[in-house]
Amino acid sequence: MYNNKQVDFQKSADGLVPAIVQDAATFKVLMLGYMNQESLDKTLAEGKVTFFSRSKQRLWTKGEESGNFLHLQDIRVDCDSDTLLIKVNPAGVVCHTGADTCWEEANVSNDFLCKLESIINDRKNNPSDNSYTSTLFTKGINKIAQKVGEEAVELVIEAKDDNEELFLNESADLLFHYLVLLSAKGYQLADVLAILQQRHNK
Ligand code: AMP
Ligand code: ZN
Ligand code: ZN
Ligand code: ZN
Repeated sequence: MYNNKQVDFQKSADGLVPAIVQDAATFKVLMLGYMNQESLDKTLAEGKVTFFSRSKQRLWTKGEESGNFLHLQDIRVDCDSDTLLIKVNPAGVVCHTGADTCWEEANVSNDFLCKLESIINDRKNNPSDNSYTSTLFTKGINKIAQKVGEEAVELVIEAKDDNEELFLNESADLLFHYLVLLSAKGYQLADVLAILQQRHNK
């Protein structure tokens, strides 16, 4: 843990030192914050990283709103005692943009697929008359599977031409109905992704 070396908080006029946050498992650099003595003490006491927020001008426990806490694994003080390296297990995404780190783009397509999947599940569990998705579930698995087949054939047909709009729209139709089929069968996209990941790791 913390090597107990004195941190030189007085080096900067505001009594703050930069704290680089690193994922203890992947070694990815996750974010940068600032700490004063009080935030360091609180971090050590609670095992969750607390910064001094320069914009809020108060102690800020990362995750206090989002729940994405940074669970403390280790703290290292640098050679001349003016910068901290904080090793953590992040409880979720780190950046407020939704990205894993503050230097990455949020994985928008993946996030949206997950959102769409949960909306589809909701239409299954709370059917409503004016929802197309709900009527699909009412018709049953065979009908949904048949619909996936139809959309796949439509996509095959559009793949032969160069009409970008039609090709992309049939792609969307297929993906949507495929998600509905997965949900009807009681599976999640994550089940399929796990298989793809396993194959990739081989
Ligand atoms: P959180 O601490 O994750 O509950 O987020 C609360 C607020 O802190 C967000 O609305 C942002 O204003 C800010 N924030 C969260 N994560 C970061 C970050 N990685 N870098 C800078 N500001 C952040
Ligand atoms: Zn230094
Ligand atoms: Zn960020
Ligand atoms: Zn179609």
